[in-house]
Amino acid sequence: MRTKVLFKEIDTQKRKCRICGYIYDPQKGDEKMGISPGIPFENLPDNWRCPICQYSKAHFITLKEYMIYD
Ligand SMILES: [Zn+2]
Repeated sequence: MRTKVLFKEIDTQKRKCRICGYIYDPQKGDEKMGISPGIPFENLPDNWRCPICQYSKAHFITLKEYMIYD
């Protein structure tokens, strides 16, 4: 018998482009666009675009991870 597994949802602060799959990670920033590490996605300039496909911020979705409770 398996025991019940509990998951905890974590907001990684990462945002994923749903057009091309590029992931913006605030810990890394976006060097090409002159975004320093530590800038949350919400604080990116409105004219910031996906470095791969050039789509706007509106096309990004929240990337969540799940942690398993023991
Ligand atoms: Zn993209």
